[in-house]
Amino acid sequence: MREQPNAAPRGTSWSPPEGWEAVIGLEVHAQLATDSKLFSSAPHAFGASPNSQTTEVDLGLPGVLPAINRRAVELAVRAALALGCELQRESLFARKHYFYPDLPKGYQISQYERPFALGGGVPIESGGQARTIELTRIHLEEDAGKSIHDPAVTGGGVTHVDLNRAGVPLIEIVSEPQIRGPAEAGAYLRSLRSLLRYLDACSGDMEKGCFRCDANVSVRRSGEERLGTRTELKNLNSFRFVEKAIEFEIERQIELIEDGGAVVQQTRGWDERAGRSYEMRTKEQAEDYRYFPDPDLPPLALDEEWIERLRAGLPELPGSRRARYVADWGLSEEVARVLTEEREVADFFERLVADYPDAKSASGWVARDVLELRAAAGRSLVELPLEPRALAALLRLVDAGRVSPASGREILAELAARGGDPEKIMLERGLEAVADSGELAGLAREVLAAHPRQVEQYRSGQQKLFNFFVGQMMKATRGKASPPVVQQVLRETLDE
Ligand code: ADP
Ligand code: MG
Repeated sequence: MREQPNAAPRGTSWSPPEGWEAVIGLEVHAQLATDSKLFSSAPHAFGASPNSQTTEVDLGLPGVLPAINRRAVELAVRAALALGCELQRESLFARKHYFYPDLPKGYQISQYERPFALGGGVPIESGGQARTIELTRIHLEEDAGKSIHDPAVTGGGVTHVDLNRAGVPLIEIVSEPQIRGPAEAGAYLRSLRSLLRYLDACSGDMEKGCFRCDANVSVRRSGEERLGTRTELKNLNSFRFVEKAIEFEIERQIELIEDGGAVVQQTRGWDERAGRSYEMRTKEQAEDYRYFPDPDLPPLALDEEWIERLRAGLPELPGSRRARYVADWGLSEEVARVLTEEREVADFFERLVADYPDAKSASGWVARDVLELRAAAGRSLVELPLEPRALAALLRLVDAGRVSPASGREILAELAARGGDPEKIMLERGLEAVADSGELAGLAREVLAAHPRQVEQYRSGQQKLFNFFVGQMMKATRGKASPPVVQQVLRETLDE
């Protein structure tokens, strides 16, 4: 998926009606970007043919034993460190029992009473305010398989079971009930996803189910301390759906209570087409799962020295980069946020600035033009042939007035499509700015002669008509005139 990373969080326009308050806690399942599964050596590439990515462990055959994937633990620990959690020196795996055809063991291996990480928080910014949503815990668990009911796939009348996803490593990140509305929930998810992607811990690919969210929602009267009864919205897999589903659910609960009813604790789904949530099942309680420590797995012990090594290996995180861009380069918070949300964009930008130190001018070209080109190409920035060094050379041509900004964009599109040398592209395509002041002065006289009324108005004090003349010059040269030279000759010609 080529997500739109810089789609701003929805405005804070929506809020619960007067006298009501919404309380939201999010549970995020993030798939760890490992080569193999949590307890088996099977790979878990997306889209592989059904049941091709399984070993005896994933099939739940008798007599086999799970063995923990060190890389999965490493990625989980990196995430917990970056989120400021307290890592537990020893944690336990537990069996969570339920029956499902796509769960051949009859239980899912998860962590329950003793997860590997407690506390921590996700920094968010919503409605211009920065704060941190605290985390309850993070635990490691395996994913379940998939039941396929779609008659287009099965031929109808039967259900197929695909165990490729069974055993895929997940971390579940559980927030405290501190989120106040749909916009904050969106901000939380964007921040968390950005962070996990920085760490290479999770692809964040929501369409492939690598980052999914359950939203717990309750409402209470303003001033009330006690939490209301919550419902849990299951498996929301896009930011927009999360925000819409939460908004709908808040309104539904308030209406229910105002009509004299009560919210029933239950699990609900989101029907995007109908724009409403619907009941799936009344919520099961923890005791229904008969959790107990998995006797096949020893406690997970985290070595202090290893943790410190992982801590030292963390990359600079988006928040710190954003602050640096604002403080050192004078960028606005908004532009800094767009540039730092994804590591590849921030890396690209920093390589550009190393070569072309006017960070402010560079920021506009990256935050707007480069990201647009990337979205249009549907590829990641590293996959595009565009090199920061080539963009730096292009910006120097623009600064020197040899290429107009409009032509510069055309050259940039070519760099993004095929790479190359900006000056060569400029010459090949005849995009060199018309900078010959003699030629432009002639043109300026023609332009002024064609607009006598505007010239008169300008001379009688309407200074802003100057830009009108600049526009006419640009039109006449099809955007190829060098802006500084145009301005200069226009001034001279108007003063004649
Ligand atoms: P479970 O495992 O049954 O889903 P948890 O106690 O782990 O239950 O809570 C899950 C999530 O629900 C947490 O993110 C928590 O913050 C949130 N939560 C708990 N109570 C409420 C409530 N009354 N309103 C909104 N969110 C809640
Ligand atoms: Mg839950």
